[in-house]
Amino acid sequence: MSFDNILGQDRPRQILKKALRNECIPNSYLFYGQESVGKKLAAIELAKALNCEVSGPVDGCDQCASCLKIEERTHPDFFILEPEKSSPTARTAVLKIDAVRELQKKLAYLPYQGQTKVAIINNADCINPQAANSFLKTLEEPPSQTLIILIASNPYQLLPTIVSRCQGIRFYPLPSSAIRKIIARHLASETGEAQPEELELRSRRANGQVSRALEEDLLETSQHREELIDLIAVVSFKRMDKAFTWTKTWAKKTDRLQMVLDELTNLLRDVAVIKASRASNAIFNKDLTRKLESLAQQKSLPALLAMFDAVQKTKAALKSNANAQLSLENMLINFCEAA
Ligand SMILES: [Zn+2]
Repeated sequence: MSFDNILGQDRPRQILKKALRNECIPNSYLFYGQESVGKKLAAIELAKALNCEVSGPVDGCDQCASCLKIEERTHPDFFILEPEKSSPTARTAVLKIDAVRELQKKLAYLPYQGQTKVAIINNADCINPQAANSFLKTLEEPPSQTLIILIASNPYQLLPTIVSRCQGIRFYPLPSSAIRKIIARHLASETGEAQPEELELRSRRANGQVSRALEEDLLETSQHREELIDLIAVVSFKRMDKAFTWTKTWAKKTDRLQMVLDELTNLLRDVAVIKASRASNAIFNKDLTRKLESLAQQKSLPALLAMFDAVQKTKAALKSNANAQLSLENMLINFCEAA
């Protein structure tokens, strides 16, 4: 029952169900894959299954006292450790040694109410080296009746000795059909209805991630895309004013630059797809089909590919901390040359 809550991750779900059925759950798992694809949800459902008073230890029922307490995070044998910022202004959150030690103390006891203690370490790749070394001891000598689940989007940042102690399960980006179901369910509980156009747009743009599908400000996105289409259409050596105004605005928004360049990449890709194949059904920004088709009539394929290439080079330069203003100006000069 509760494993049915995990949508779009058929393979991890099958692996976990089989392990439960065969009673061969390891001491520790590493759930890895990009952010917001259901890793934490799967870990919570596994904790429910192991301790469910009705269907356990094969599945959770979502109804019994144990399942409800795990859902509410009040079960005495269920722990979630998350990275914390050391101050409100700190740039990144880390898993610190104090938190790890406190968890280790709790894991030293036998289960209080349930069958199996479950400790989830979310964003385990944010663990600091001191805490990682301390935690390694727990993985090497696992406490009895305990399952540890590490969750990481960048497992390569974990100590190899930690990774080798865990059974890894890879989670993939969610298919847009699963994203559509998840956001429909969420929007229905929030606003009472979900327009089909909104569902289609959000799931298409989500890149396999639920958080992106839910949090994206569609109005803002639509304004950005209109501006970008206008920029691609108009920018040329005769209209350098357009290039400078755009650069001036975006060079200051350093935290949003990669986002806007990703958007530009997708739009140029779509126009090139239309130009090369006339396959409007294969495009990403389906709601803008007409505008993109008219752009495809104005531009040549080599020009579109040159612009696409310029954007990729700019993205790479910005990732290596190049000056934003200069990089964007350079990119738009390349656009003018291609136009
Ligand atoms: Zn239950």
